[in-house]
Amino acid sequence: MNSKTYPIICTRGVIVFPGQELVIDVGRANSLKAIENAQDNYNDRICMFTQSNMNADNPGEDDIYKVGVLCEIRHIRRFEKFLRIKFRGIERVKLDSFEEGNLSELCQVTMMPSQRQNEMEESVLVRMVAQAFENMRPGEKFMSKDLMMELTKGIQPDALTDKAVQLFSLPIERKQQYLETTGINDRLTMLLEDIEKEKQLTEVEKRINETVKDRIDQNQKDFYLREKISALQEQLNDGSLPGKEGDQIRKRLAENPYPESIKAKVLEELTRYENLPMASGETGTIKTYIDWLMDLPWWQHTDDNEDLEKVKEVLEEDHFGLEKVKERILEYLAVKQNTNSLKAPIICLAGPPGVGKTSLAKSIARALDRHFVKMSLGGVRDEAEIRGHRRTYLGALPGRLIQGMKKAKVINPVFLIDEIDKMASDIKGDPSAAMLEVLDPEQNAFFSDHYIEEPYDLSKVLFIATANYLENIPAALRDRLEIIELSSYTDVEKIHIAKDHLIPKQLKENGLTPEQLIIPDDMILYLIRYYTREAGVRQLERTIASLARKTILAILKDKKEKIVIDKDLIKEWLGNEKVDYGKKEMEDQVGTVTGLAYTSFGGDILQIEANKFDGKGVLILTGQLGDVMKESATIALDYIHANANRYGISKKVFGKTDIHLHVPEGAIPKDGPSAGITMTTALTSLLTGIPVKANLAMTGEVTLRGNVLPIGGLKEKSLAAYRSGITTIIIPKGNVKDLDEIPQEVKDAVNFIPVSKVDEVLANALVSPLTPIEEKDEPETKEKSKEADA
Ligand code: ADP
Repeated sequence: MNSKTYPIICTRGVIVFPGQELVIDVGRANSLKAIENAQDNYNDRICMFTQSNMNADNPGEDDIYKVGVLCEIRHIRRFEKFLRIKFRGIERVKLDSFEEGNLSELCQVTMMPSQRQNEMEESVLVRMVAQAFENMRPGEKFMSKDLMMELTKGIQPDALTDKAVQLFSLPIERKQQYLETTGINDRLTMLLEDIEKEKQLTEVEKRINETVKDRIDQNQKDFYLREKISALQEQLNDGSLPGKEGDQIRKRLAENPYPESIKAKVLEELTRYENLPMASGETGTIKTYIDWLMDLPWWQHTDDNEDLEKVKEVLEEDHFGLEKVKERILEYLAVKQNTNSLKAPIICLAGPPGVGKTSLAKSIARALDRHFVKMSLGGVRDEAEIRGHRRTYLGALPGRLIQGMKKAKVINPVFLIDEIDKMASDIKGDPSAAMLEVLDPEQNAFFSDHYIEEPYDLSKVLFIATANYLENIPAALRDRLEIIELSSYTDVEKIHIAKDHLIPKQLKENGLTPEQLIIPDDMILYLIRYYTREAGVRQLERTIASLARKTILAILKDKKEKIVIDKDLIKEWLGNEKVDYGKKEMEDQVGTVTGLAYTSFGGDILQIEANKFDGKGVLILTGQLGDVMKESATIALDYIHANANRYGISKKVFGKTDIHLHVPEGAIPKDGPSAGITMTTALTSLLTGIPVKANLAMTGEVTLRGNVLPIGGLKEKSLAAYRSGITTIIIPKGNVKDLDEIPQEVKDAVNFIPVSKVDEVLANALVSPLTPIEEKDEPETKEKSKEADA
């Protein structure tokens, strides 16, 4: 036997494999002695064996494994109580015997070199090991960057296992098995087994981790939900237990004269409510519905003031003028009172903005001692806005009518339906159908709202509708309305309204006394004419409000005692004049005529301009013209063409001139035939070169034969003309009857000229008379007529 003698050292839990290095702290006396011996006498060689019995402090023969490693001591660092030594493994050795039977001394060992086995098998195994390493993910237990590096560089198979095993955290018994195995293929196989086992362990570990995590998550979730439920329950129990609440509702039902059908409905819903689990999403919806049913007025009402004299007083107090309107309102109320009939039609106050429609309705409510509510129909295009959504609809609510009734708190308020002419209809249903039901006294005792479900009685409500433009109210609706028209105010009326109502109101609102702000009459007129151009007094009211606010500032800041408004102050506080009153029409002009229009903002003036240039006889129309207006333009031109020579115009002109007619754009599109005579006059003036008189306006439809037909809205149109400083208006004879309606103030300032023929219009409008010409027919035209004869 090739036995050799070396000093011996025993380790606990570590093995240095051949070819590998390892640092071990050595402190036991015997071990220190052996190290010394190795350094001194054995050329730094020492044999290292691992204890099989970890507990032995002075291990004997039975306490150690019999295969160890011959090592070289590479480096020593001395510490106070131990040496830190770097060993390098050289060769596996088998322990043969101890000299003198003492482990601290020397041992005899035989070398155990690694054995190569089947080479093909070896290369397959190496490949498999390399593959197994490659498949490992970073962070897995056997993964080692060092090893991977060496593998790629190409490592000897025996070194491979020794290196791998030393790096891996295998149990010491298993490491010892590697040490005792000399067959390289055997060791590679063991390594594959260990890697596979480790993989499985990792999988299992992962599974266990996941299960544990799931369990924790589920537990946490359960806990959270339980907490939440109990919190919700606490909230519900907080004085609003369904039982308790249900009792309150039952009590309210018993004590009040709700209609039987409503009582039954509420009780039915209440039972459903109480039987639902508290956390059910439906309870809220049912509760809201019950609240709506209970809160709507079913019997509550106010007592009407039946004294019509008093009603009259209130109406007079709140509004200046409007005599006819107030009279009609009083008549209406008298009839209603007298017959106590539900059949009276609903009144509709119609007129331009700012003439007091809303404030009249409020005043009626005040006069009758009734509550006042308002619903605007402007832009409503969906029937559901009036009739509500069915309860199955998410977030459903009653329609605006029922909402208004809830706000009114009584069954007999004055209910203002604002802008009934601005309702639109589309695919979502026709809101006017719902309004028909509301406004029909025969039907509105059983008004049905989709949400409320139970019929609701609207017959005690005093409905008042308002509209700007009657034409826009659907015909069926208009039939049910008793229209009371309010028209624009004249300057004098406006001054009165300002003095008696608007100024006192603004003084009060701004906490001023009548002595502190003085607006003389001529300044009110100045404001009306140069800072507002409107049918009503809304803008005027705003202007006065603005003056009142500036006054407060002047009094507080500049320590003024009182403010007397004059032109300079108005200019300083409100800026330059906003409207050029009566200035546009100062000069006589060719081809420009002032027409009069009737719009939803009241009357308005519009300039019609005509121009011509060389061309082929085309009529160009631009501006805000509707179809009817375009037709009027064609009729006007045809009429002039037919009568050209009589008017002193050569017919040749029409073939070689393009004519451009323009209606300047206002804010509102205008349409209607009433600009007929205006266009005819503009064209005649243009083609004859004779100017049109200044400060003149006209309105009237024209026919192909030159007749002037009556038009609508004369009152509004006259007021608009008057507002603009016009002094003469040419009107159709057929409208003379309407002059009765026109305020005396306007008639005093404006000269109305009734006409029935275009010739009369031109005679009055143009600054000089027309001179007829004689003109032979064009040869071209002759040819044509010959052909026609043949
Ligand atoms: P509308 O509803 O017709 O558009 P409002 O009722 O809102 O007009 O009236 C605008 C303002 O003008 C209100 O402050 C109103 O009191 C006032 N007003 C209108 N006409 C008169 C009048 N004849 N007498 C007193 N104040 C009036």
